[in-house]
Amino acid sequence: MNFAMYVHPSDLRLANTRRVYRSLLAAGRSSRADLARRTGLSAVTTGKVVDQLIEGGLLEEVDLQSAPTGRTVSAPVMGRPPRVVCLSRRARFVAVQLGARECSLMSVSLGGQIDAPSRVSVPSPKRAELFLEAVAEAKDSVCPQQPLAVLVSVPGVLDERQNRVLFSPNLRWTEHAELLPALGRAWSAPVVAVQEVQSLALGHQAFGGAPESFLLIEFTDGVGGAVVTNGRLLESPFPMSGEIGHIRVPTVQRRCGCGNDGCLETLAGRPGLIETFRTSLRKPRATWQDVSNHVASSGVESWLRDTIEATGMVIAGAVNLLGLREVVAVGELTEMHPDVILRIEDAVRRHALCSRFAQVNCRAAPGRRILGLVAAATDRVLLPEPALVATRAAG
Ligand SMILES: [Zn+2]
Repeated sequence: MNFAMYVHPSDLRLANTRRVYRSLLAAGRSSRADLARRTGLSAVTTGKVVDQLIEGGLLEEVDLQSAPTGRTVSAPVMGRPPRVVCLSRRARFVAVQLGARECSLMSVSLGGQIDAPSRVSVPSPKRAELFLEAVAEAKDSVCPQQPLAVLVSVPGVLDERQNRVLFSPNLRWTEHAELLPALGRAWSAPVVAVQEVQSLALGHQAFGGAPESFLLIEFTDGVGGAVVTNGRLLESPFPMSGEIGHIRVPTVQRRCGCGNDGCLETLAGRPGLIETFRTSLRKPRATWQDVSNHVASSGVESWLRDTIEATGMVIAGAVNLLGLREVVAVGELTEMHPDVILRIEDAVRRHALCSRFAQVNCRAAPGRRILGLVAAATDRVLLPEPALVATRAAG
């Protein structure tokens, strides 16, 4: 980061604060010395930032034994009880995940740990009013206190500025204009809504170790994508991007939830995989469990190859267009068997132009949606990003 770009000392302080906070979000817990080392800030600056964040209630300092499990281990200092800092476990967010099969509400800590007993799941309703009634009923058991924000993961096309879902092919009721504002009012807190695949990309990034630029694809009932370039979600002028699941595969005639025929997700989404399996193996009553058990034991067989080839071709198109070389796959298709991602990678490499002179990498990764929601809340509500001089000059 180029600090010369900031004018005000307060902006620099905020940038340092964000750096320390982000580092803790990735590490889970850390000694002050490790924080300084990882952020590249001086011990004095790190100490000041940590003290401020503790005073503001966002951080706490605890004995190592009582700290949440960290992802990095620091060597204990002999003779002194080790003290570490972690994100506050008292301050809470409410997280709401809207899904095609079920919707869930839960209380999460600033570090993204779910408070398991607070979790309430309801079958996805047909109308927004029914969901809001369920929220009103569950509200106090999910989070009796006022949270710092209500974090909402939404499928479909989200207009973040208007806090409104514009189009959701598989969950039409979420398009209700009052849905997101009403969730905020339920807990008297600001709403941070994030498109569900973008929240996975933010989570992948916040966990640490992610490439600066990548395409993330999620395979569940549908297939969605999110693009991160130079460490940031791709900004598009229209509130829609990454809809890789609705790219047409010419040889496929299946009707998609979006109204078109032959979208990639009619092949690589859960219902599409079940349908192909049933037809190809002549098992008309096979369930999702049957499909995933079969792939887990038999690997990638011929019935799955066309789907993988189509997926690889569509990804290669995105890779060609965006100039990305790192692809991260999350979800059911790649979780079924380790060969799936290798076959996808092989197809992408065969079809992507940059393979002629550079390497495209595809990796399967766990989904970290809650961590992504928490990261979004950090950027939008807790520590909003300082304005850059360049942006001001341009504006
Ligand atoms: Zn579609």
